[in-house]
Amino acid sequence: MLPLNKESILQSLARVSDPDLHRDIVSLGFVKNLTIAGKDIAFDLQLTTPSCPVRDEFIVQCERAIRSVVEGVGKVDIHMTSSVVAHVNVQKEAILPGVKNTLAVASGKGGVGKSTVAVNLAVSLAMDGAKVGLVDADVYGPSIPLMFGVNGRPKVSNNKLIPLEQYGVKIMSIGFLVDPMQAVIWRGPMASGAVKQFMGDVVWGDLDYLVFDLPPGTGDIQLTLVQTIPLTGAVIVTTPQDVALADAKKGLVMFNKVNVPVLGIVENMSYYICGHCGHRENIFDSGGGSRTATELGVPFLGEIPIVTNIRIDGDKGDPIVHAEPEAPSAQGIRKIARNLAAQISIRNVAAPAMPKVEILIGNQS
Ligand code: ADP
Repeated sequence: MLPLNKESILQSLARVSDPDLHRDIVSLGFVKNLTIAGKDIAFDLQLTTPSCPVRDEFIVQCERAIRSVVEGVGKVDIHMTSSVVAHVNVQKEAILPGVKNTLAVASGKGGVGKSTVAVNLAVSLAMDGAKVGLVDADVYGPSIPLMFGVNGRPKVSNNKLIPLEQYGVKIMSIGFLVDPMQAVIWRGPMASGAVKQFMGDVVWGDLDYLVFDLPPGTGDIQLTLVQTIPLTGAVIVTTPQDVALADAKKGLVMFNKVNVPVLGIVENMSYYICGHCGHRENIFDSGGGSRTATELGVPFLGEIPIVTNIRIDGDKGDPIVHAEPEAPSAQGIRKIARNLAAQISIRNVAAPAMPKVEILIGNQS
């Protein structure tokens, strides 16, 4: 056993490693403001996201590590904080300077629950304490206003739109600005023009995650959009049937084409739980999403069952993670959001920081 001092505590904490980042929490710089008062220890544990899937485990592991290495420890007070790691991207910094990460939620075809997943993921991240925005880039079928139960015109300040806000998420949708029937006849350039405006002409402020709900499919419009938005990564939503999975693969090909990493696959409508007796019915083949993820070499973020209340709450404008946070399906979605946040941290921590390009003007010796 080691005597109680800062060095021995840090030595003990270096035994705790982040399961996603595969490095110890001391070398990752998570341990901050370490103080010792008599026998009592206090420190902050600054994680890379408030949506860390193993937050609570860290507390247990840190305390265990300290007590097994350091002698005569009194109270251990660990204060969890977070600072979301930003995706370094020159284009993003120019268009969305305060936004740390941008995510596309995509699907190979319509009706698989892409918007439902996008909304519930955005609200989940906000419920964990992240600063979150959501762009309804599905200009041809904007369903975000309905799913959030918000409508009205965004205010304008200094020629910029102020996003509406609901459940802690800043929201922008074409549905707030024009009659959705009008947008249906828009051609590709107008649709991508609208999404461009939703980036540059909206006061997003500082955000940890800005989620884009893309139009379903993998055609020209989607391809243009994923080239237009400086993306940290994408999430592909699929259902377990063979056809839907084939579509998910097309999604992956599309993102590969533009070098946007796929952060994971979410399988929606995986199985049905009877509202009366709780019986689980695998309506489609089960496990297809995770098999596809393995086959394609991308993470599987989790599955969401068919639950009548997911639809009812969505139609009411109150996403299930907010309306019924204790429901097992809501808990499942919260976990998926945390897995997603972990994937973003993994990417950003692993990516080497880009050197700042300095343009030197004038005489140089
Ligand atoms: P997409 O964006 O892929 O077109 P939506 O998110 O609009 O799909 O979902 C289509 C319909 O399915 C909506 O009525 C939605 O409430 C419903 N839905 C989506 N996911 C689920 C689910 N897991 N359980 C029950 N209903 C769902």
